Amino acid sequence: MTRPTIVAGNWKMHGNLGMAENLAEAIAAGASESKAKLIVCPPYPYLDAVVRALGDSDVHVGGQNLADQPDSGAFTGEVSGTMLRDIGCWHVIVGHSERRSLYGESNEQVATKFGLARDAGLVPILCVGETLEEREQGQMESVLKAQLEAVVRMHGVDALQDAIVAYEPVWAIGTGKTASPDQAQAAHAFLRQQVAAHNATIAGVLPILYGGSVKPGNAPELFAQPDVDGGLIGGASLKSEDFLAIAAAA
Ligand code: PGA
Repeated sequence: MTRPTIVAGNWKMHGNLGMAENLAEAIAAGASESKAKLIVCPPYPYLDAVVRALGDSDVHVGGQNLADQPDSGAFTGEVSGTMLRDIGCWHVIVGHSERRSLYGESNEQVATKFGLARDAGLVPILCVGETLEEREQGQMESVLKAQLEAVVRMHGVDALQDAIVAYEPVWAIGTGKTASPDQAQAAHAFLRQQVAAHNATIAGVLPILYGGSVKPGNAPELFAQPDVDGGLIGGASLKSEDFLAIAAAA
C-alpha cells in the first residue's frame, strides 16, 4: 500500500512577519525539488502572510492549534477550525505535547479538536508521544494507545481516513536527542497495528510522521524506516535550507 510522504514544519512561537514571509518564499522556491508533500505551520498572526508568500506553490499551510469549540462565539483568544480553513489552511496540528503539557489538554480535549478540525475541512495532524519517565517505566505503548484510542472512541476509526498522525516522543522534542531509527520504527509499527485492529485498510494508508530533533543529518535513516512516512520538524524548520534538506531526504 502506498502512503504519501509528508514533511511538516512547526514554527511554534518563533519569528516575526518578515522572517515568516522570507522563510515561506524560500521554501516555496525549493519545494519542487522535494518528492514529499510540504506543510508549514506558522504562528496565527502570520498565517495569512505565509499563505500569500507561498503563492501557487504546492506547499500547504497549517495552524498549530484550534479551539475546542465549534463555530463562532464568546471564546476570547481562541481561533476556530473554520477560521483557519477560511484563510487558506488545509491542516492543523492537534495535541502537540506542548499543548498537552503546558496548557493541560487532555486526550478527550485533543479528540474533540480532532473532530472539529475535520468538520471544518482541515486535515488534522494528531501528535502522540510518551515522556521519558513513561518510556522508562515501560508505558510507551499504553500511553500511545490511550492517546490514539481517545480519538477512535469519540469519532470512530473512519475519522483517521485523510488524517495524519505524528509520533513525537516528548524526550526527543527540542532536546537534540532523537529516537533511534529502530525506536521510531517500533513506535510507528505499534501505532499502525493499533489502527489496523480497527481497520487494516485505513492503517495501511495512514501517514505516520516522526517528530523530535529531526535534522538534515538524521532524516535519511529515520525516513528509511518502513512505517515512518516523513517528519514533523520543529527547530530545523526555521531555516529554509535545513527544512528543504530534510524534505529532500523524504
Ligand atoms: P524539534 O520539535 O524538531 O525542535 O524537536 C519537533 C516538534 O515539536 O514538532
